[in-house]
Amino acid sequence: MSRKRDFRRISRGLRFRLTISYALLFTLLLTGVALTFRVRLAIALDNQIQEELKDDWAAMKGYMRIEPVSEFGNRICSAWYYDEQDPDETTIVLDTRKIYLVTDQNGNPIPDSVTHEPAISTAYQDIGIDKPEDIRKRVRDAMASSKPKIYWDERRTSKGEPVKVRGGVVYSEPHQGQRAPYYVAIGTSYSDNERTLRDYTWIFVGVIPGALLLGSLLGYFMAGRALTPVRAVAQAAQAISGTNLSMRIPSRDAGDELDYLILTFNRMIERLQESFEQMRQFSADVSHELRTPITAIRGQLEVALFTAETTDQYREAMFNALTDIDRLSQIVRALLLLSQAESGQLVLQKARLNLCEVVDDLVEQFQIPAEAAGVSLTAELPAECVAEVDRVQIERMITNLLSNALKFTPEGGEVKVSLRMEEDEIQLAVKDTGRGIPTEYLPHIFDRFYRVPGKGTAPGPEQGLGLGLSFVLWIAKAHEGRVEVASTLGKGTCFTIHLPHHPAGDGAEV
Ligand code: ADP
Repeated sequence: MSRKRDFRRISRGLRFRLTISYALLFTLLLTGVALTFRVRLAIALDNQIQEELKDDWAAMKGYMRIEPVSEFGNRICSAWYYDEQDPDETTIVLDTRKIYLVTDQNGNPIPDSVTHEPAISTAYQDIGIDKPEDIRKRVRDAMASSKPKIYWDERRTSKGEPVKVRGGVVYSEPHQGQRAPYYVAIGTSYSDNERTLRDYTWIFVGVIPGALLLGSLLGYFMAGRALTPVRAVAQAAQAISGTNLSMRIPSRDAGDELDYLILTFNRMIERLQESFEQMRQFSADVSHELRTPITAIRGQLEVALFTAETTDQYREAMFNALTDIDRLSQIVRALLLLSQAESGQLVLQKARLNLCEVVDDLVEQFQIPAEAAGVSLTAELPAECVAEVDRVQIERMITNLLSNALKFTPEGGEVKVSLRMEEDEIQLAVKDTGRGIPTEYLPHIFDRFYRVPGKGTAPGPEQGLGLGLSFVLWIAKAHEGRVEVASTLGKGTCFTIHLPHHPAGDGAEV
């Protein structure tokens, strides 16, 4: 059972699969090359035999005549003219006559001038004499054609030896000004060539599995070597846990794909470390934020329990406790909403609406607190500014910006909200003439629970949670926008939200 599982694990491994791929590729390549060579070899050997037969044919034409009227009688016969004393000539003629046939145009072998026997060698009889109708057709075709015709045949002897035959038409010596056509065929054995090809095939069949085995072993070894650094990386990655996220996998400085993987992995760990750090910071902040009102409630209740005597004293303690409980639930609600937003559970309900109306309504609502604070609140809006947004979230965003502006602007100051339609975006700006934010604190104001240290940030009922701008940033991002802030200490702050402008054709009205 465990062996089966082991095999399954190995066979799914990268090393095994790489080896199999190598082996398959190797086999395909080797077979392809071997087959190509075999075909080329077969063609070359066949050409060689054809050349040999071409020479034999030329020799036959040089030494043989077809006599229409022989000196041995009034009969047609084939006669071979050569010097029997010349060993070269004798060898050539004997070689050519080994497998030969001479017939008239009807396919009947004509007699030999010396033996008076039909001009067909025993070896030719062995490979089988051509059918008379085939010969007749060949002669006819050859005579009809303007070019000399050559006929190639492949036969086997009774012993199975392969023979290549070349046939063609030869004309007799002239008789009364006429030359008659005759069919001549000569052959040669090519068993040596066949053996060469067979040997080649066997060598090949024998070599391929061996080469394949060797190649696979080599491939397995090489794949193992190539994957060693991967294993090292995996081990290093295993050593990294939540408690030692500062660890990094050392780069091999090879500049290869694996180094790229290590770099990517290290960056991922870096991001993870940042998230872990943020989470840790966040939980510390949350517990701190919750502890303050809880301690206060506890203190108020204890004081009431041990020192309060009159109903009014009890009432006051309970009123203070309730205020703190309100703050507590405000924090919890805001946190819940923020975590829902950031984890993607809060889905935007986008609709096309006129942002001018939204801003106008909110500015009107804020007039009362603005007047109470002695701050002038105005809006500078175009005739219309249609955008596809989530009304609730956009209102939340503007509310947060407005309440901050009013909170941090002293009496006699000004808060101005403006909307501008640019070519590819909508700009919503909330500008105040308030106390401003020191440059060094600007990068942190969007962090959760962050409040700029200094005057007016001492804990108190009017003090914010430090969550408002986190919402502003998330809402802008969720609308594929961004937030820009410009602030001068003592002079004022301007928050600008850039929202992508959706062209009219994008929405419902086309
Ligand atoms: P809070 O609930 O405390 O307002 P925010 O996240 O909205 O929290 O803002 C974070 C901090 O940024 C504030 O505590 C304040 O110090 C600073 N801030 C925000 N808006 C303004 C502004 N318009 N003028 C000056 N300071 C501001």
